[in-house]
Amino acid sequence: MKIIMLGAPGAGKGTQAEMIMEKYDLPHISTGDIFRANIKAGTELGVKAKAYIDKGQLVPDSLTIDLVMDRISQPDCNGGYILDGFPRTIPQAESLSAALRSRGDSLDYAINVHVPDEKIVTRMSGRRACPGCGHTYHVVYAAPHEEGICDKCGSALYLRDDDAPETVKKRLAVYHNQTQPLIEYYCGKKILRTVDGTKDLEEVFQDITNILGA
Ligand code: ADP
Ligand code: ADP
Ligand code: ZN
Repeated sequence: MKIIMLGAPGAGKGTQAEMIMEKYDLPHISTGDIFRANIKAGTELGVKAKAYIDKGQLVPDSLTIDLVMDRISQPDCNGGYILDGFPRTIPQAESLSAALRSRGDSLDYAINVHVPDEKIVTRMSGRRACPGCGHTYHVVYAAPHEEGICDKCGSALYLRDDDAPETVKKRLAVYHNQTQPLIEYYCGKKILRTVDGTKDLEEVFQDITNILGA
């Protein structure tokens, strides 16, 4: 099964993708996580990507598309995958379709996690990320057992620089301009499924499993 997650920054794509990964045993590929790992490791890609991410802009397609095409051609992706945070632009979506088509393949589902803008800023200010394992928490809605410490790996949680309210507002504008058109695009391909991302995380996951099947 090949799935992409659509939705505004903070809609819960990563949270749901991780739950899908566990239930359906598919690799979870997050472009945001790949960029953050490169930033941490100080790679050339990381240095370039950071300049855009810090401003709330998208990393250019020229740096993003090949990276993802390479990742999905790895053997662990043979049985499918969940793409979280890619595609984010029409050219990214077109590249993905073309790459799949050339192998006689196609996407199964585009899951659109819908959350209105006014709920996004509070979601983001409470988000805490783990630098160790990448798991995401929320101080109110998905709190760790011990404040500030990752349940899974014990690392100290942090607030992402790009989750500052001013940057979140810019990211939302970028989302509406560049990423939202993908909803229409995948609707046209008949694989769009929209879920209400304002529900409780378990309820959202239930709605997703109803779509994907047991
Ligand atoms: P969120 O989950 O909050 O939407 P991500 O972790 O997916 O954030 O992405 C963080 C940042 O990484 C984005 O704001 C953007 O700058 C960059 N990024 C991630 N994926 C892509 C992509 N497919 N194309 C361009 N930029 C990307
Ligand atoms: P995205 O990957 O779309 O940027 P995340 O999965 O990182 O979003 O979720 C953003 C924040 O909202 C995190 O702090 C997460 O714990 C929290 N969150 C995710 N889903 C829900 C939900 N259904 N209800 C409340 N908070 C949620
Ligand atoms: Zn962790």
